[in-house]
Amino acid sequence: MISINKLRKEFDQGVVALDSIDLEIRDTEFVALLGPSGCGKSTTLNCIAGLLDVTSGQVMFDDADVTNKAPKDRNIGMVFQSYALYPHLKVIDNIAFPLKQKGVSKEERHKKAREMAVKLQIEHLLDRKPTQLSGGQQQRVAMCRALVKEPKILLLDEPMSNLDARLKIEIREVIKKIQQELKVTSIIVTHDQEEAMAIADKIAILDNGRIQQYDTPEMLYQYPANLFVANFMGNPPMNFIDAKLETAGEKLMFTIGESSVEVSGQLLEKLRPHTGRPVKLGVRSHQIKVGAEPAANTLPMEVQMVENLGKELLLSGDVHGCHVRVSVDDTSAFGRMKALVGDGEKRVYLRFADFINVFDSETKVNLV
Ligand code: ATP
Repeated sequence: MISINKLRKEFDQGVVALDSIDLEIRDTEFVALLGPSGCGKSTTLNCIAGLLDVTSGQVMFDDADVTNKAPKDRNIGMVFQSYALYPHLKVIDNIAFPLKQKGVSKEERHKKAREMAVKLQIEHLLDRKPTQLSGGQQQRVAMCRALVKEPKILLLDEPMSNLDARLKIEIREVIKKIQQELKVTSIIVTHDQEEAMAIADKIAILDNGRIQQYDTPEMLYQYPANLFVANFMGNPPMNFIDAKLETAGEKLMFTIGESSVEVSGQLLEKLRPHTGRPVKLGVRSHQIKVGAEPAANTLPMEVQMVENLGKELLLSGDVHGCHVRVSVDDTSAFGRMKALVGDGEKRVYLRFADFINVFDSETKVNLV
């Protein structure tokens, strides 16, 4: 288990890279650190690895305080974006290198290197030099080298960012499989939300040196704690529609431009205390139904574009000044929809699914 308590890292000239990070990673768990460039992902990883001194706070592995321990005494394996292979060494000696440093005999370390190479399906490459390998193969060698000394913790810093889209999917499956097989507690740094969702048991979303939310991919996707997280998770991104919470007699309504939509179901209780507040409705493209006729509790959308994504259509357009994307499952409607836009009769009517997220426009916090 890894516990990080109130971790703070300041660089020279007062740059605060991490501001009081708390994180707990259970034994055998796979956690992703996700966030935009400069948010502090690599700094967090490097503090856990011991490659950076912390300004204050504590890093614990199980019950041991490792905050001031050297990297070599932490029993971690690490994979970097650049792979950092030794160009003059054969693959087998690259993989075996950490064991050589530990004084393991040549015969023994080659045996272990071979075993790990079999697991990652690169045993046929052991006599090559790194320059004779593809990017994906170099990545597997780097993984082998990180795992050969059977570390308790595996740290991965953007390990797939130099691979093309197809290879990324292949390698992330390899990483996930081997992580489960070896049951090694792992942390991956990435700025790719899809990669984080695919590979990790839990994701910590960082912004500006702070954790915005730490939860399972499903929870982050469904119940983002604030607008920052909501913006970061999901593709296409969540739609945000400006509204105001207002009462109409007994009813609570979202007022959106000249339209209004009644608040119902489980949202009612949660939102009533916020009556009068400006809010942003957070609605995913598949949480919206599209109709041709105006009706109560619908919103008009001026359709500007219809795209055929193969498994669904994506309509995009304007809803009272907010740009909105809507998924339509029935791809056979493509011709009809496209003709609609072409004819200039571009208006459709949107109805929300039962559950949507509602954010306070000022505090940016999710109210539901
Ligand atoms: P990226 O995705 O671009 O790698 P990141 O989320 O990993 O970004 P970090 O590299 O952890 O971000 O950097 C966090 C902050 O600390 C940034 O503002 C960065 O400029 C700053 N920083 C990182 N390393 C140093 C350093 N050696 N000296 C000064 N500032 C640094």
